[in-house]
Amino acid sequence: MADLNRRRRALATQQFPLPEQTRVFTVSNQKGGVGKTTTTVNLAAALARGGARVLVIDLDPQGNASTALGVDHRAEVASIYDVIVDEAPLAGTMQQSPESENLFCVPATIHLAGAEIELVSLVAREQRLRTALQQFLDGVDEPFHYVFVDCPPSLGLLTINAFVAAREVLIPIQCEYYALEGLSQLLRNIELIERHLNPALRVSTILLTMYDGRTNLANQVATEVREHFGDQVLATLIPRSVRISEAPSYGQSVVSYDTNSPGSLSYFEAAAEIAARGAQH
Ligand code: ADP
Ligand code: MG
Repeated sequence: MADLNRRRRALATQQFPLPEQTRVFTVSNQKGGVGKTTTTVNLAAALARGGARVLVIDLDPQGNASTALGVDHRAEVASIYDVIVDEAPLAGTMQQSPESENLFCVPATIHLAGAEIELVSLVAREQRLRTALQQFLDGVDEPFHYVFVDCPPSLGLLTINAFVAAREVLIPIQCEYYALEGLSQLLRNIELIERHLNPALRVSTILLTMYDGRTNLANQVATEVREHFGDQVLATLIPRSVRISEAPSYGQSVVSYDTNSPGSLSYFEAAAEIAARGAQH
């Protein structure tokens, strides 16, 4: 408890430095259920509370990020599908999240489920999100500080669009057995994208999620990931927490659902690290 109070006080006095240029992250891991969406939503909410203007692009047909941000994503709503497949301007699909006046979301609807196949026959099929995002960012009156793209659990064309649109990859890794399985394939794909489609892309951030410090396994995974990835891994660990998993059913991030809970504090701390790192570049 004393520790939580100390962490709360440390955060209360902390200002997040804002980046000079928009930082575009793709949050990716081809495994499902590792905390991609939870991480996207909570980092975005924490950074928005810290004064940044933040856009979340929901690129998963399940629309979990849209739900968690309290944004309408019924089938008839304008969505990322219209942007990617029909070249609709992104600005017309963006909604403000009730979380914060600084936080916006382009929702995903059920239509996106078909986009993976529809994209195959479209021109510049890997660049469609990048083109739309660039046009949008060039045209906004008030600049955005962060864009987070929440990816589906696959390495298909939607995820490739996210890698091509971003400069930074954020990989959430669940502190569980098998966590590292498949990671080398993800890294190989990122390398291929970097070589052929987006030379600016790099894995800037790895975040350990669902950490349970009582288990040896979680500690082993955390140690192994740190040995392998070094500085790319944030010092902050996201604990396994019931509050984190409850928040989406209220259409909220844990950062607003239970601001002072350990899970929320951890996401604030992770956001502070990300902001501080961006200021150094
Ligand atoms: P992904 O987007 O990678 O599929 P999610 O973010 O949707 O993963 O998380 C998968 C499930 O785990 C969700 O039910 C979510 O609420 C839960 N979850 C995510 N992070 C945590 C955490 N730190 N503690 C407890 N449950 C979590
Ligand atoms: Mg998800």
